[in-house]
Amino acid sequence: MPELPEVETVRRQIAPVLEGATITAAEIVDPRLTRPVEPDLVAEALVGERVAEVDRRGKYLLVRLDSGRTLVVHLRMTGSLRHAAAGELPEDAHRRATLRLDTGRDVAYRDVRRFGTWELLDPDHLRPYLSARLGPEPLVASFSGAKLARLAEGRRAPVKSFLLDQRRIAGVGNIYADEALWRARIHPRRPAGELGEDELARLHRALRAALRKGVELQGSTLREYSTPNGTPGRMQREFHVYGREGEPCDRCGPPIERTVIGGRGSWFCPVCQQS
Ligand code: ZN
Repeated sequence: MPELPEVETVRRQIAPVLEGATITAAEIVDPRLTRPVEPDLVAEALVGERVAEVDRRGKYLLVRLDSGRTLVVHLRMTGSLRHAAAGELPEDAHRRATLRLDTGRDVAYRDVRRFGTWELLDPDHLRPYLSARLGPEPLVASFSGAKLARLAEGRRAPVKSFLLDQRRIAGVGNIYADEALWRARIHPRRPAGELGEDELARLHRALRAALRKGVELQGSTLREYSTPNGTPGRMQREFHVYGREGEPCDRCGPPIERTVIGGRGSWFCPVCQQS
C-alpha cells in the first residue's frame, strides 16, 4: 500500500500537471470509487473546476479546487495516477477515472484491487474529515521528539501498531514502520508507552530518516505502485528488514525474522532490536 513517501512522490509529480489547469471533461467508470455518491455527480461537479493546488495529508492526496472544494484521493492498496498528452494514455482495463485538462493533458486513475476512494468535500467538511482520521505529519518541523514522546505516553499497544495508527501519526504504513524500528534498534513488539527517553529520541530520528529516504528514492515499487510519470520507485532496493526474512541483518549479521503484530507481517533483527 502506498505510504507517505509514495503519496508524496505522486503529489510532486502530478502537481505540475494539475495545478493551474482546468478540468474540461471527467469520466468516472467505477461506482466504488465515489460511493455512496453517484460517480456521474462527482464527474459533473469536477468539470469546469480549476485546480489551485495539490497537497497531501498522511496518505491522502488533496486536490484543492478554485471553488474551495477539495477532491480527496486515497490510493489504498493499488491506486495510482498516470498522465499523458490528450488521447495518448495507454489502454488499461483497470482504469477507473479519467480527467481531461485544458492544457492538453489527460490524467488517469487506475486501481486493480478497487479499494481507492475519491471524495469531493466542501470547504467546511475538509478540516473535520482530516482531523478525525489523522494525527500530525511526521516530517514537518513541529513534529519534535517531545511530541512523539507525548503521543506514545501511556500507550500499551506494541510500538509497531502505534506507528501504524493514522490517528496518532499520519502516513506511516508497514514498510516504513519496520524500517524505522530497525534503524532505532527497537523491537516492534515493545509497548509504545514503555520506551525510554533515549529510545524515543532514536525512534523520532529513525522514523523521519526512513520516510525521507523513501521520498528521496520516489517510494518503493512492490506489485502495483508506479509514479505518475510511469517510473518505478527505488526504495525497495534499500530495505533493511521489510520482506527480508532469512537474509542477514545489515548491522549485525543474523537472519532477519518475521512475526505478526496486530495482524500485520513485521520484520526485525532478533539481536540488535532490543526486546
Ligand atoms: Zn541486527
